[in-house]
Amino acid sequence: MALLEVREVTVEYRRPRRPPVRAVAGVDLGVDRGQIVGLVGESGCGKSTLARAIVGLLPCASGSVTLDGRAVRPLGRGARPVADRSLQMIFQDPYASLNPRRRVWRQLADGVPRDDRRDARDRSAELLTAVGLSPDAGDRYPHEFSGGQRQRIAIARALAAEPSVIVADEAVSALDASTQAQVANLLVDLARGRGLGLLFISHDLSVVRHMADSVSVMYLGRIVESAPTGALWSQPLHPYSEALIQAVPGLGPGAQPPTGLPGEVGDPARPPAGCRFHPRCPYSHERCLVEDPAAVTIVPRRRAACWLQPAGGPPRPLDEVAPAEVSS
Ligand code: SF4
Repeated sequence: MALLEVREVTVEYRRPRRPPVRAVAGVDLGVDRGQIVGLVGESGCGKSTLARAIVGLLPCASGSVTLDGRAVRPLGRGARPVADRSLQMIFQDPYASLNPRRRVWRQLADGVPRDDRRDARDRSAELLTAVGLSPDAGDRYPHEFSGGQRQRIAIARALAAEPSVIVADEAVSALDASTQAQVANLLVDLARGRGLGLLFISHDLSVVRHMADSVSVMYLGRIVESAPTGALWSQPLHPYSEALIQAVPGLGPGAQPPTGLPGEVGDPARPPAGCRFHPRCPYSHERCLVEDPAAVTIVPRRRAACWLQPAGGPPRPLDEVAPAEVSS
């Protein structure tokens, strides 16, 4: 069992006098110690909702989250989310998650476990050093720092709780390119050096490719493919993964010109019948319009939810799918 296990998690948003919107629909995910798992997909696919459900900021309608074998979210409808120190989250906007009126060292000290007997100022200095800031930075206020430095402070605050898993939701997306790379490298070093599990959520595939050991691809509330990072990039098995990779300049196999993704992410309040991706899928065929494929294991460590990929394999390279199978 992985350090963090997410099993069949479903998250719904209630609406007055209308059926709830199922933003996350039965997601499975695992993160091990020292492992970086990327979660990618377009805006609106449910990534952030899933992240918030995992850390307890949103209730799950069903499913479970276990951490080191301990159930942290056996949540039913109406159950109250409970925060768990071992599971920390880093948000896109660090300024919004820091108190502008409190000195940094005090905010870091708030996160330190109560049984930690070290001096709070010393502990804050250690945490700031760990994220590449001067220990003196603790005496300043959040507005005195740049965006990248504030994100480092947010990372230090997450580390203060001595978590075993960090969920980073678009944690580098608001930073300029060079700061992005520095903060991404810091997260990689912390995960490897401290044996932390890191669930790194991003719409930016080039960052995820650089950081993650494995990647899960999310579309309209479901994980449609999960695979080791290198395998996913060299041979995506789900048409949505292929389209995402091809849409990024210079990332596709052979660095072909980006083709762009057709259409838009569907509405989770009215998901299409059959395969949720079929209105945008260039490989869609009759069965896809009426039957929703379940995620199955194609080969060890590779799963996909697509009728083109049979359970147990062998994997079918998408560029070898016969034209007769592809309808408009
Ligand atoms: Fe495309 Fe059909 Fe596969 Fe869905 S099941 S991704 S529509 S080929």
